[in-house]
Amino acid sequence: SVVVVGSVNADLVTRVTAHPAPGQTVAGQSMAVLAGGKGANQAVAAARLGARVAFVGAVGDDEFADVATSTLRTSGIDLSGLRVVAGPTGLALITVSADGENTIVVVPGANAAVDDAAVAANAAAIASADVVLLQGEIPTSGVEAAARAAAARVVLNLAPVVDLDPDVLRLADPLVVNEHEARGALALLGAPPDAGDLQDVAAALVRAGVRSVVVTLGAVGALVATPCATAQAGPPDVVAIPAPRVSALDTTGAGDAFVGALVQRLAAGVGLVDAARFAARVGAYAVTGAGAQASYPDAATPLPAVGD
Ligand code: ADP
Repeated sequence: SVVVVGSVNADLVTRVTAHPAPGQTVAGQSMAVLAGGKGANQAVAAARLGARVAFVGAVGDDEFADVATSTLRTSGIDLSGLRVVAGPTGLALITVSADGENTIVVVPGANAAVDDAAVAANAAAIASADVVLLQGEIPTSGVEAAARAAAARVVLNLAPVVDLDPDVLRLADPLVVNEHEARGALALLGAPPDAGDLQDVAAALVRAGVRSVVVTLGAVGALVATPCATAQAGPPDVVAIPAPRVSALDTTGAGDAFVGALVQRLAAGVGLVDAARFAARVGAYAVTGAGAQASYPDAATPLPAVGD
């Protein structure tokens, strides 16, 4: 099974012709309140594809708690580890302009309660999971405690980059990062910045002691880096995973779809490279539909393939 210890938000999304400058008011063209948060998005992505998923997190005691957890509930996810705390539910205020550029204000709200004490209260579930899946939208004490409480595999999506103990980064198998986050992770590990290409950065993360690394590259696909299989001191193995070519409608939540799909496959016993090939197809599928959770496939959905 998969246990996600992470964030759940209500996303307030409005479309504008152009973003307001400070002091300016502009008219929004539409407004939607959607379920979001990286933790919830990834939990939903994995569950829709068939994983058994439990979610450990927190919502507030306000009117946004219901919408934030709506898809978690309809996706058959175990919510016995979801707490209601006083104060606001995590909120993301998103404006999307006509040219597709986003501005986002994230209010952590109840997600700030998912700390080491919250992890301790769910230690048995975390220790019994095949995969514990973590992101950077809860307090670092919660991420670190959950990684240490895991008895099997830890998958860490370092999004956003938060100041984690380097030894916790090294527990990740894999650490999943985009280009920007990959460089941030390297800095956290105390490694010199790598001026080379992303293959070099991925390899440097493995050399710095991370068990395995997946770097997502948008429309290009992803890289998988693992310690050299043939010689202990050899250079890390880096495999390029191509993304299927699709016409992108909305890239919101594509990274979360990728991570959720990766974890669903890993929990099913699939190897990392094959899991990443599947995740790239799911990520590509997610950019062809609007929104985050609403654009995620289930196990029966035909997925785009490389070479289509
Ligand atoms: P993030 O949004 O976290 O930066 P990426 O943009 O790297 O993540 O996207 C995650 C994954 O989603 C990619 O590895 C790829 O598989 C898929 N993806 C994203 N954008 C596209 C696209 N335009 N075409 C095809 N696949 C895409």
